[in-house]
Amino acid sequence: MSDASNPQDRGLLARLAEGPVICAEGYLFELERRGYLQAGAFVPEVVLEHPDLVAQLHEEFVHAGSDVVEAFTYYAHREKLRLIGREQALEPINRQALALAASVARRHGALLAGDICNTNIYDPNDPAAADIVRSMFEEQVGWAMEAEVDFVIGETFSWAQEALIALDVIKATGLPAVITLAIHREPVTREGWTPAEACRRLEAAGATVVGLNCIRGPRTMLPLVARIRESVDCYVAALPVPYRTHEAEPSFQALTDPDCDCVPGGRPFPTALDPFTCNRFELGEFARATHDLGVDYLGVCCGAGPHHIRAVAEALGRRPPASRYSPDMSRHAFLGQDPSLNQRNLDYASRL
Ligand SMILES: [Zn+2]
Repeated sequence: MSDASNPQDRGLLARLAEGPVICAEGYLFELERRGYLQAGAFVPEVVLEHPDLVAQLHEEFVHAGSDVVEAFTYYAHREKLRLIGREQALEPINRQALALAASVARRHGALLAGDICNTNIYDPNDPAAADIVRSMFEEQVGWAMEAEVDFVIGETFSWAQEALIALDVIKATGLPAVITLAIHREPVTREGWTPAEACRRLEAAGATVVGLNCIRGPRTMLPLVARIRESVDCYVAALPVPYRTHEAEPSFQALTDPDCDCVPGGRPFPTALDPFTCNRFELGEFARATHDLGVDYLGVCCGAGPHHIRAVAEALGRRPPASRYSPDMSRHAFLGQDPSLNQRNLDYASRL
């Protein structure tokens, strides 16, 4: 599977030992806004219906600097497929998502990651629910193993105890586990553990990388990540959503838009978040700030576009293929400095 003699094809631990690893996420939101995935249930049927588009998005994120191709199996679990009445598609969706990601990863020498996530049925007072959660993770991780993934991501867990079950299932494969928690308005997991405490437990249970993904934007994720970094010795992950969450509205579900009265239900999440979108420079700043803290696994979650990932890569000193097209405003007709530019247009710049 991995060949240490080929620098293009080494595992997660070798890559982390050399420097930060970038993982682009956010496939659900990107394919929803492109018109190929339905908001609400948010099930990635698109991997069967339009596999070419999923492969293309993987390509775009690698082009922009992602070191990892994450199989689009987020919410491709038994509970979600039950919800949309397509349980018979469970295995085909998973196998297809893994095959699409594998083809792009292998072509570019990127890491291939399997993915499991919050099941929405975990209940700390119901041992039977925990058993079902475990079996859901086992079937998905089994398909990931057959696709020869380099590691497995367990993500977006707001119950840390559910994350611990995911970790246990991944650990049984012998592959590295990247486990990230989703922290809502209250800065604790749903069982009331601080993120730092939850990450300490995940580290003790054998996670390779621990941290946070989704839900919080850069500004409200950063302080939590700083405390996690101080609390664990293992690698730390930070993958915010690219939205301007703030102290009073720390999660993207909490954001309100007083400038717009046409948002269904008055809640911008998930389909009217556009005005809150962070620009690429804000994501670059977040990447720089967290890397300075000692965070080694960086990315962007729901809402991310390739321009955000390129900004993260460039903030870390990389020049991915997409950097060939990074801005050069010196040749802009009105705002540039190139000596061949038309002076009448340059003089008009202040009136644009
Ligand atoms: Zn997300």
